[in-house]
Amino acid sequence: MKDDIRSHFPILSRTIGGKPLIYLDSAATMQVPREVMAAVSDRVGSINANVHRGIYALSEESTADYEAARAAVADYLGAEPDEIVFTQGTTHGINLAAASIGQRLTAQDCILTTVMEHHSNLIPWQQICAQKGAALLAAPLDHNGDLDMDALEVLLRRRPRLLAVTACSNVTGAVPDIPRICAMAHAFGVPVLVDGAQHIAHSHPDVRRLGCDYYCFSAHKIMGLTGTGVLYARRDRMQELAPFQFGGGMVRQCTPEGCEFERAPYCLEAGTPNFVGATALRAALELRRSWDEAALFHHADTLLRRAEDGLNALPGVRVLGQPDCRKGCLSFTAEGAHPFDIAALLDKKGIAVRSGHHCAMPLLRVFGCEHAVRISPAFYNTEREIDAFLDCLRQVLRILQ
Ligand code: PMP
Repeated sequence: MKDDIRSHFPILSRTIGGKPLIYLDSAATMQVPREVMAAVSDRVGSINANVHRGIYALSEESTADYEAARAAVADYLGAEPDEIVFTQGTTHGINLAAASIGQRLTAQDCILTTVMEHHSNLIPWQQICAQKGAALLAAPLDHNGDLDMDALEVLLRRRPRLLAVTACSNVTGAVPDIPRICAMAHAFGVPVLVDGAQHIAHSHPDVRRLGCDYYCFSAHKIMGLTGTGVLYARRDRMQELAPFQFGGGMVRQCTPEGCEFERAPYCLEAGTPNFVGATALRAALELRRSWDEAALFHHADTLLRRAEDGLNALPGVRVLGQPDCRKGCLSFTAEGAHPFDIAALLDKKGIAVRSGHHCAMPLLRVFGCEHAVRISPAFYNTEREIDAFLDCLRQVLRILQ
């Protein structure tokens, strides 16, 4: 099955510096299969026209295609189409929510986030809180790198206006128990925004089962294109969201003095939307569904465990965190070897890994480091690739240490 899956991704057969590419950076962006490329080519080649604007046949076809993509996303998430806003990505979705929620924030309020967050789920809240004089709280981790649930509960007692939490760390791969967290937060009347950017790559989210109020993700992390994302907001929450960008396509009426907004989600999609990206996302989701998703997720889990076991056996290598549940990625440091040097030398062997602060500086500091190497195998990687990575890493560390 794996070879069959790999054949869908042309890039996986290319070489880097004469070596076969071993792509272990799918948490940064996932590779794109032929089916998605074909859907994009079809969309641009046969139904390219702006949406929600023209009354000619081609434009109506284009609008129908865009709305079909919205319905497909809703269906995939277990939501309704009017609960889906197309965004430019996770970052954009969180900024939209933050701008809107921020309008109602006062100096007496607080927002709760966690130490585990990507900067995209931290900085928008910092900015909004700073503007309003509100407090920003961050729930700490336990010694394994999981969220400290007792500390979280204590912070929820302060009744923040929102809890913004990741469903999977992009550094450690730690997967918090989102259904439990949502139930806890709701018991205190606190709505929950879930950053699903990493989570959706290795699970099929059902927003009702998760119990969240908002869920954001980026299409490029699940075989779609960059510049496309989704903000799910439960219907009542969707009605509360206010536009933070203004322009064409979002109003019912406009005079020189003022305007009347369209209903949500349309008033939240000002300007020409990324309808090609929406089609690509729909194609990606349909393709995923046509495969045995559970088997793909299981295979990726097996690869991650194999890598973790191999890394733990290497002297001087420290895998960050030992969370109860780890998915999608892990990060490590090695004594005497800088993460940038490790990544640069692995690159010479055709192996693509990420090194740096992973846009999660507060989390790396919890582990006492500034930088780390991250690997994020996906379902299209193989055991042989993981073994090749471990072999090459051994050689690299011999040079560096
Ligand atoms: N949250 C997490 C957990 C992420 O991993 C990322 C991407 N690295 C983001 C948010 C931001 O996603 P994007 O850059 O696609 O907006």
